[in-house]
Amino acid sequence: PLDASTIARPGTGAHTSVLLETVGSRHDPPSPSLHAPSAPPAVAARGLTITDSEGRDYIDACGGAAVSCLGHGHRDVIAALHEQADTLAYAHTGFFTTEAAERLGDRLVADAPEGIGHAYLVSGGSEAVEAALKLARQYATERGEDGRRHVIARRQSYHGNTLGALATGGNEWRRAQFKPLLMETHHIAPCFAYREQREAESDADYAARAAGELETKIQELGPETVLAFVAEPVVGATAGAVPPVGDYFRRIQEICDRHGVLLVLDEVMCGMGRTGTLHACEQEGISPDLMTVAKGLGGGYQPIGAVLLSERIYDAISNGSGFFQHGHTYMGHPMAAAAALAVQEVIARDDLLANVREMGAHLRARLKETFGRHAHVGDVRGRGLFQAIELVADRETKDPFDPALKLHARIKAAAMERGLMVYPMGGTIDGARGDHVLLAPPFIVEREDIDRIVERLAEAVDAGLGEVA
Ligand code: PMP
Repeated sequence: PLDASTIARPGTGAHTSVLLETVGSRHDPPSPSLHAPSAPPAVAARGLTITDSEGRDYIDACGGAAVSCLGHGHRDVIAALHEQADTLAYAHTGFFTTEAAERLGDRLVADAPEGIGHAYLVSGGSEAVEAALKLARQYATERGEDGRRHVIARRQSYHGNTLGALATGGNEWRRAQFKPLLMETHHIAPCFAYREQREAESDADYAARAAGELETKIQELGPETVLAFVAEPVVGATAGAVPPVGDYFRRIQEICDRHGVLLVLDEVMCGMGRTGTLHACEQEGISPDLMTVAKGLGGGYQPIGAVLLSERIYDAISNGSGFFQHGHTYMGHPMAAAAALAVQEVIARDDLLANVREMGAHLRARLKETFGRHAHVGDVRGRGLFQAIELVADRETKDPFDPALKLHARIKAAAMERGLMVYPMGGTIDGARGDHVLLAPPFIVEREDIDRIVERLAEAVDAGLGEVA
């Protein structure tokens, strides 16, 4: 566990919030350097590169946490921010709406899956998930369905760190010590082919089996008591870019609809173009009742998130009590909205989603080429510019490395030493899953960047493995 001396190491600039996000396991650190950022403070950033105070450059191959979709220092976004700051930096939503917030809302709704009619702007992913859960509950109560209270989600999921979102996520390591504070939730298996699909089981059979768990759970709880099912279409932080199989999500939607259970898709990490379409759920052919987006929405230029909600939820509330009983001081912030609007306009203007698809295919091919036969890489997976490798002690048995070895943290440190930022996680889910490394480079990435990223990653993986093998 962390103690004060590891939290505040003088001279590293490692303050608690950064450090705690860096830590990947509850086990004692094998060496303190794995737990503090291995770089001095960041002082500048342009395009794909972040520079530290000693003048060293790092390729941002993960957009921080899949945030920096446009790269750093984009002139158009900076100009939009200047203009907004100069015109109107803040107006409370209890008094006013603003042009920036309205334009962003219109844009989000115009580009959203069918049925989505409104956007609720907040300041980040966890806030978006909290608002989505409360919108779901208020929808039920407005309709006189007070008995609907159970939230079902999946193991190996992450939905945020505030209490409702933390309760919803299935990451045991993050939840463990806060359990007494968490609302009751229910978890089913994720759709995770590498770990859960049986040998000789077809994709269709596996999708049916995995989705069938939702049906079973709803029946067990009593359909009239179930409020919502929450899932990431492509799982991000807890398992590393895990895409669904076959018609899994169409089956999930059918089950939800049949029981009057709201489908909440958390696209905070996998959404806003990351997988090659604006929303990851487009590739599944489904439209959720509620959807959360954040990270790539503002591309890191400002903190922002949103809940996209269907007309029927909006109508139930506006024709009912007429007021969503929720709110945050900084929701609909004009600076955040202006930044997000500029980011989304550049992505559309420069057709960057085409680049996500093309460079995503190149990244995947290079990863397969480099790691496809690697003795300790069990899986290469993902969609678009959202790709991951999973490290295993044994390819045949898929046994993970001992979580106490903190292989993922070693790989991250080795990558930083080589001027490469990657997003590692591992050994955190009931101790049963392997370490993985997630790549989520900005949408402006080019072939040569990807080649350099994969080369450096290969070195970092072998360096990390060299320390534990
Ligand atoms: N949902 C998902 C799927 C996420 O990946 C994250 C952040 N990693 C969150 C919610 C929480 O977002 P935030 O950190 O902005 O609160």
